[in-house]
Amino acid sequence: MSGRGLLMWDEAVTKYDFGSSHPMDPVRLALTMGLVRAYGLDRAMDVVAARPAGDSTLRLVHREDYVAAVRAASEDPASADQSYGLGTVDDPAFAGMHEASALIAGQSVGAAEAVWRGEAAHAVNFAGGLHHAMPGAASGFCIYNDASLAVARLLELGAERVAYVDVDVHHGDGVQAAFWDDPRVLTISLHEHPRTLFPQTGWPEETGGTGAAEGSAVNVALPAGTGDEGWLRAFHAVVPELLAGFRPQVLVSQHGADTHFEDPLAHLAVSLDAQRAVQEACHELAHAHADGKWVALGGGGYEVVYVVPRSWTHLVGIAAHQPVAPESVIPSTWRDEVYARTRQLGPARMTDGRWPVRLRSWEDGYDPADRLDQSILATRRAVFPLRGLLA
Ligand SMILES: [Zn+2]
Ligand SMILES: [Zn+2]
Repeated sequence: MSGRGLLMWDEAVTKYDFGSSHPMDPVRLALTMGLVRAYGLDRAMDVVAARPAGDSTLRLVHREDYVAAVRAASEDPASADQSYGLGTVDDPAFAGMHEASALIAGQSVGAAEAVWRGEAAHAVNFAGGLHHAMPGAASGFCIYNDASLAVARLLELGAERVAYVDVDVHHGDGVQAAFWDDPRVLTISLHEHPRTLFPQTGWPEETGGTGAAEGSAVNVALPAGTGDEGWLRAFHAVVPELLAGFRPQVLVSQHGADTHFEDPLAHLAVSLDAQRAVQEACHELAHAHADGKWVALGGGGYEVVYVVPRSWTHLVGIAAHQPVAPESVIPSTWRDEVYARTRQLGPARMTDGRWPVRLRSWEDGYDPADRLDQSILATRRAVFPLRGLLA
């Protein structure tokens, strides 16, 4: 197995563009790749562009009539069929939508194939993580669900146990739905409580289908306002035990950066430093429980200058085994690029000044009156017994 990680990148993923008034600005991808290059991480990894996902791959998750509707909207955006979620406020149709979406999906599928075949231990597609797309509908800025497609491809290649860990601020509803009845896939999502955030699902009681699939979905619904300590506490109180018990053959993780306190669309208060800590934890968990096989994806993130590029550059550095030090001063070449593209100055360091983030471990006890601990307990009680673990 090559010691070098794989970085999936094709400049054309920046054509995934819902227009200038939409929060998902593709400049976030261009600026991330720029920062990755400024740190020389593109030389520490093999940078590869995979082919777009073809119809037979898309069909692993998506319905034929939906793919046809995306193609039609892609050719004639004015004719988009809203019954498929296309041409809506969240998912406006744009020319070339099918091609850009299939290209992003292809990068995640290519990452999964390379990791499964042992061509690389770790592969990153920060353009991916479009976790809201449903088998038959666009949703929440997501057209094709590259995360589901990567998992489905792993199953097609013979994987019997795949773990999906989603730390985006929004519930990973599309991936959960795709594998609801499949005991081979354990989906774990940590997100802001559905009471206060789209897509209003991801309650702890959502624990998967019937029979062997019971307990294959895990949801941690965090109170709005949860910060670094609470977020890390919840992650460590739930994820490591589940992965240790499940022994996945591959870990697929989704690293939406919209948990950040500066993100305009949600209400958690997580710093870049805690995001980096969770990225490191996922890397360590992949080595501890999945033979090192790790596919890491991006996701949401709407503070596109100060947050997303730094968060995902840390992710790339960790997957490259060349982590960027939090206190590192960001190269001025990148800040020049930021100014040229956005007329903003850009951040100066790779930290929010909160490193190292303290971990208050669940094993040291919990407070039944604390709202965060209540949400952790709700998850553990709902699903741990189904997986043969003590709540
Ligand atoms: Zn590693
Ligand atoms: Zn999100």
